[in-house]
Amino acid sequence: MSAIAANFATDYQDARRKFCAAAAASGGQLRSYRNPTLGPDGGRLFMDTARFGDDGASNMLVLMAATHGVEGFCGSGAMVNWLLGGGPPRLPRNVGALLIHGVNPHGFAWIRRVNEDNVDINRNFVDHAKPYPPNDGYAEIAGALKPPAWDEPSLAAAQKVLDSYAQQHGAFGLQAAVTGGQYTHPDGIFFGGHKPTWSNRTIRAVIRNELGHARRIGCIDFHTGLGPFGHGEIIGIGDPALSAFARQKAWYGDELTSPQDGTSTSAVVVGVVMDAFPQEAPDAEFTGIALEYGTYPVPEVLEAVRRDNWLHQHGDLRSAQGREMKAYMQERFYPAGAKWAELVWARAEEVIGKAVRGLTA
Ligand SMILES: [Zn+2]
Repeated sequence: MSAIAANFATDYQDARRKFCAAAAASGGQLRSYRNPTLGPDGGRLFMDTARFGDDGASNMLVLMAATHGVEGFCGSGAMVNWLLGGGPPRLPRNVGALLIHGVNPHGFAWIRRVNEDNVDINRNFVDHAKPYPPNDGYAEIAGALKPPAWDEPSLAAAQKVLDSYAQQHGAFGLQAAVTGGQYTHPDGIFFGGHKPTWSNRTIRAVIRNELGHARRIGCIDFHTGLGPFGHGEIIGIGDPALSAFARQKAWYGDELTSPQDGTSTSAVVVGVVMDAFPQEAPDAEFTGIALEYGTYPVPEVLEAVRRDNWLHQHGDLRSAQGREMKAYMQERFYPAGAKWAELVWARAEEVIGKAVRGLTA
């Protein structure tokens, strides 16, 4: 295995060890926030942060891993390669860095996208005092997404419903209904929650603790599951008409995509984790993107999420079927083998470079 791939982890605890060791060896100031749940091995779970650079650095690079749990293998491996590859000492003067590892450590450890409450963290940052955004499409197919049993008759009936929806609305219409976020089915998938989650509350505390001094923040949130194998799509955040989006374009160039204008592989989603930065650090100019790495075709990725949801509610994780579903899930969000890991790091290094140049422009 290559040295780059070896910096990617085999499980959550391995990822945490690698991250904390590399951050400490690079002179980072570490803080850990304990999640109230445990991992499948009984191990404790944390959101860990590491800060680099002068305490008063006004420009801050922020890297985030595991907003979507299992997708954390990608961001974790990129961070460890950045640390061990001499990232911190190469930062320009007046640029610091904050690495946030294990935004959703429960999902990371349990090989899930969701957290301990079955909530999608990247749909949870809406204003919970206001009416939730509707998703009529999801309501139409909710039963098919979580069939009563995982047997041939139930699955065949469910498939009919999904196929018919795709025929009426197109494949991307189906993807949007499934992944756009929903607030009506707590036992479903892509559920945004009915209150701020632990990860939501904790990351707000992290921003206040670590970024209060910042004047400019450049954030990269690592994700996986959409796009061609190993390709990292730079997804812009927010309305393309706003000045924040123009700044994202200036930093990252024409390859920046937007769900709002139809150039992204992602459907429009609301309540993303990056919404917390302008709220908790209002004096800083915030420029955030999601770096979304492709793995397998979208139908396989959504099927993995659907199986995982069914498994945790009705199945047995220790059964042969449970282990098979978990392996399917992990591969769809963290493909095995050195090739994918090397593609992830090569692209991450390039995109981090753009963020640093943007911060100092
Ligand atoms: Zn994601």
